[in-house]
Amino acid sequence: MAISQEIQPIAGDDAEIHAALEDAFLPALLPALAHATGDLSLLRDELRPVGMAPGIPQGGMTDAQQAAARDLAFEAIVSLRDHAPAVAFELGEAEVRRITEWMTGSPSSDEYIPLLLEELSLKDDPRAPSWRKDPDTAFSVAIIGAGMSGILAGIRLKQAGVPFVVIEKNDDVGGTWFENSYPGARVDVTNASYSYSFEQKIDWPKHFSTQDVLLDYFRDCATKYGVREHIRFSTEVLSAEFDEKRATWVLRLRTPSGGEEMIEAQAVISAVGQLNRPNMPDIPGMASFEGETFHSARWNHHIDLTGKRVAVIGNGASAAQFIPVIAKDVAELHIFQRTPNWFVPVPHYHDEVPVGLRWLFLHIPHYAHWYRFWLFWTTGDGLLAAARVDESWPDKAHSVSAENDMIRALLTGYLQSQFQDRPDLLAKVVPSYPPASKRIVLDNGVWAEALKRDNVTLDTTPIAEITPHGVRTTDGTVHEADAIVYATGFQASRFLTPMKVIGRGGVELAEQWNGDARAYLGITVPGFPNFFLLYGPNTNIVVNGSIIYFSECEVRYVVGCLRLLLEEGHAAMDCKRSVHDAYNDRIDAGNQQMAWGVSTVNSWYKNEKGRVSQNWPFNLIEYWRQTKSPDAADYVFV
Ligand code: NAP
Repeated sequence: MAISQEIQPIAGDDAEIHAALEDAFLPALLPALAHATGDLSLLRDELRPVGMAPGIPQGGMTDAQQAAARDLAFEAIVSLRDHAPAVAFELGEAEVRRITEWMTGSPSSDEYIPLLLEELSLKDDPRAPSWRKDPDTAFSVAIIGAGMSGILAGIRLKQAGVPFVVIEKNDDVGGTWFENSYPGARVDVTNASYSYSFEQKIDWPKHFSTQDVLLDYFRDCATKYGVREHIRFSTEVLSAEFDEKRATWVLRLRTPSGGEEMIEAQAVISAVGQLNRPNMPDIPGMASFEGETFHSARWNHHIDLTGKRVAVIGNGASAAQFIPVIAKDVAELHIFQRTPNWFVPVPHYHDEVPVGLRWLFLHIPHYAHWYRFWLFWTTGDGLLAAARVDESWPDKAHSVSAENDMIRALLTGYLQSQFQDRPDLLAKVVPSYPPASKRIVLDNGVWAEALKRDNVTLDTTPIAEITPHGVRTTDGTVHEADAIVYATGFQASRFLTPMKVIGRGGVELAEQWNGDARAYLGITVPGFPNFFLLYGPNTNIVVNGSIIYFSECEVRYVVGCLRLLLEEGHAAMDCKRSVHDAYNDRIDAGNQQMAWGVSTVNSWYKNEKGRVSQNWPFNLIEYWRQTKSPDAADYVFV
């Protein structure tokens, strides 16, 4: 099973190389060629990229710099073609430092270098466990969920020789990428970042893959790393209860036949995600609707919407992806918008990776790695500063700092340019809340195109009720519809819903949380020994990085905990309440410094208590630092 293609020998003639170079992303190509040839003099000071922000073409290189860089690259590629080194050049730490400094324009701190090396994953797999469980020790793990993070947990446990089973409620892997099959579903972080560091695919067909391509990637990973055979599909965990005397978790399962079965494991890893259970709104009359209806995350592909009058309730990231697609086919599309989105222009959002760039990925060793590094650096924490609150900023309802206000002006300008011919729509689409209070949606112009269609109406009048034949708004108008699509998001704050998790002393997790889920590092909860959460409370990011980065950090931490248990001969570990509480105080203080913390706009980041229970408020290296390995002092061992 090949997920990624092997690097191919360069066989093309000079013309083919020149043609490929027209599509090259140069700030990552020169480093890749320096790496491949061992000639670090390719990294000329006068060609250094200066634009270390997302979306700046060629890192801000001038035309003359680009031409010079292409000439240099051409010579280097020809040299690779005609005199391929017999032995690949191995970068040492000094060379990595030299290359990253050339790319970023700043010295890499000693602490950053190991993180960068992990993210680069140039050889081997630096985050893989460096130990193996003693085969004579009886210890097994139950992983709940076979989505992106559950597969990852399986890969790592397999590498550590820890027996495990994965319980998956669906009949395939992929989690969110299996369930969200609505038209137009695609990732909003480039593939190079939204993929495992150790399983880089160099031939992604598009910069931002569609759902089917990502689903295939995760299927292939599950198979390649031998996780699939550990998965029990169409099986749901109903409850998990900790048997204190035996330090064992007892899981009650619903099996594919509808029966129940108990299994046991010494540790549980919950990998059910935050965006797992659809949120259906509570609108009067919903049950009376006589047409077709479904949630965006449960798209009913048996219902053909062609020629139908369709109402869409909800207007977040999911709706913004499927509305432009279905608008072309339906007779009428009525969008009920409560809160508009901020949109950021990404002109290549739907584009194929250009032929020349693909050629370079396929022929230049490590080009894809250095390209991923560039994206990690520029999209990592770049926008975080603009989401941070300036206490002295006067009007925090619209922006939270001068930098945030500048982003507001840029994004408003984008909407103005998109809707300049439709002032009626422009008045409805510009958000009042500060950018970064909610997820900013990527756009390549299709949103405005859809809204301006004659068959599309953007309605901001609140909904009063659903009637048998449509939606009645508070102004009394009934908007008739043949189908209603609920794009109303997920029960994100209700972590682990609807599983019943019972820890020490018979305490139920949902009761302990009481609508306000918290965990230490988003991973462990006092009173629930050996129960580990992936993508748990406060591990979501709004403007920086990829969630896969967080999952890799979390899984490494969890595997580190298992190592602690097994090597020290403990049966179970329970997070100290004081450690957990102090950590959550820091998280809360951090979130109060961020746009999503101070803004009063509706968002799935806040729970019913009004606390931000989803987001990580700090930078990426901070989470990496804290999760690198568990500190035994944070736990009570049994
Ligand atoms: P969402 O962002 O939570 O949006 C839900 C929408 O439904 C909002 O417009 C909300 O309005 C509206 N809504 C909720 N209850 C309502 C009610 N009772 N009446 C009227 N409107 C109601 O959900 P989502 O679009 O599914 O996206 C969730 C998250 O998933 C995103 O933030 C993102 O992290 C992720 N996602 C990612 C991608 C991607 O990578 N490509 C795609 C889709 C989703 P209010 O805003 O007023 O509450």
